Amino acid sequence: MADNKMENIVNLCKRRGIIFPSSEIYGGIGSTWDYGPVGVHLKNNVKAAWWKSVVQERDDMVGLDAAILMHPDVWKASGHIESFHDPMVDCKKCKKRFRADHLVESIKKQEDGLQLTADELKDLEKAITGVVCPECGGELTAIRQFNLMFKTYMGPVEDSAAVVYLRPETAQGIFVNFKNVANSTRKKVPFGIAQIGKSFRNEITPGNFVFRTREFEQMEIEFFTRPKEADEWHKKWLQDRFNWYVSLGIKPENLRLRPHDPDELAHYARACSDVEYLFPIGWSELEGIANRTDYDLKQHTEVSGKDLSYFDESTGERFIPYVIEPSGGVDRALLAFLCNAYEEISGGRGESGADTEVVLRLHPRLAPIKVGILPLAKKGGLPEIAKDLQTELRKHMMTEYDDARSIGRRYRRQDEIGTPWCITIDFDTLEDQAVTIRDRDTMEQVRVPLAQVKAFVRDKLEES
Ligand code: ATP
Repeated sequence: MADNKMENIVNLCKRRGIIFPSSEIYGGIGSTWDYGPVGVHLKNNVKAAWWKSVVQERDDMVGLDAAILMHPDVWKASGHIESFHDPMVDCKKCKKRFRADHLVESIKKQEDGLQLTADELKDLEKAITGVVCPECGGELTAIRQFNLMFKTYMGPVEDSAAVVYLRPETAQGIFVNFKNVANSTRKKVPFGIAQIGKSFRNEITPGNFVFRTREFEQMEIEFFTRPKEADEWHKKWLQDRFNWYVSLGIKPENLRLRPHDPDELAHYARACSDVEYLFPIGWSELEGIANRTDYDLKQHTEVSGKDLSYFDESTGERFIPYVIEPSGGVDRALLAFLCNAYEEISGGRGESGADTEVVLRLHPRLAPIKVGILPLAKKGGLPEIAKDLQTELRKHMMTEYDDARSIGRRYRRQDEIGTPWCITIDFDTLEDQAVTIRDRDTMEQVRVPLAQVKAFVRDKLEES
């Protein structure tokens, strides 16, 4: 199963309205995906869980929603115009394009199971000598540097003065607002700013479903500290962010923190660790958590000419804060939650001995639909009771009403989209004013009085 797990997840996502290939009726467009009627809830729930954990439940964090289009000098200051490049090679025969480091790495992995060392990465030109195109055996071009930013023009005139970029990360919107936020909220260092938003990178080798796409969403934090406290805050954030994934059901054995080697670090970063998840494609980055020192605020001070230093009233010192940056991807986190939750049960779970059944064991807080409401018959007063129950519950949570086909098929549909609880309304309900609530994971069924259903489900959600 492991070999085609990703493919099976992609198929499930299409079949159940979680994620569709973008512009599919036109043959699709490289590496963009659309979240469907079920997936949009899953994505919103991932973002809401993050926001709750890093903004709502903390005293030292505030939120922000900055624009995608920013002054082009932002990207000069951040270094993106100068150095946001990936090394790329093209196949001269089939014209396919590869990221040179990924290509060499995958060959090395196949040959001896090893990853590229930092030295080899630096000497990519050497490492790629003699390598041919894996698709057709064709010869490769020399390595070229390829800027990953999408360029466009603002206003009616397409000239160099009008060039703007789609942001390749949300972080810079936070840095340029550091003073605005500090002044308007009167937050004192240490404090942080959180933001969720779209970012765009013209990735050379997108792929693996929503793992690497050209348009994606990030959840980023810039946490401003006194320089001498930065290491301590870095450690705290590493632990906090690791725990967040676990609190939403990620199996700890499939999650790890991987510190970067010193020569793997960006030149301005003092330390960085990635939270990695064991995806079906192997251990890969979910989130990077870096100590970026005072690099960003210094750069923006220099390029904008505006002083971004901070005056610490408690010590009388003026300094440029250090920054701890936990930077994660919404889509990547969502994919990890999907992979973690996806389970195939051959022979099915019921007595029917059906073929393979799929259960998406999503954490209830992430589940797109919290309760399925399933009247056993389309008549005899059952639909009216079911509709009334839905009216009551839908004020508090996403519900789905389903009266089509057999109850077994309806359960399977809800299991496949990860609905934690299914409520059936049967003919006994007319007598005892109670319904049956089935638990997705244990398949246990309990009889609950209609009047207590709302409290029952809300308590379960709270406890989860
Ligand atoms: P990678 O090495 O995988 O390209 P990165 O180190 O360049 O990632 P960052 O710049 O640190 O990534 O971005 C922070 C987070 O944003 C990543 O951990 C990832 O979750 C997400 N992310 C970055 N690029 C993409 C992408 N092309 N598609 C989806 N998510 C992305």
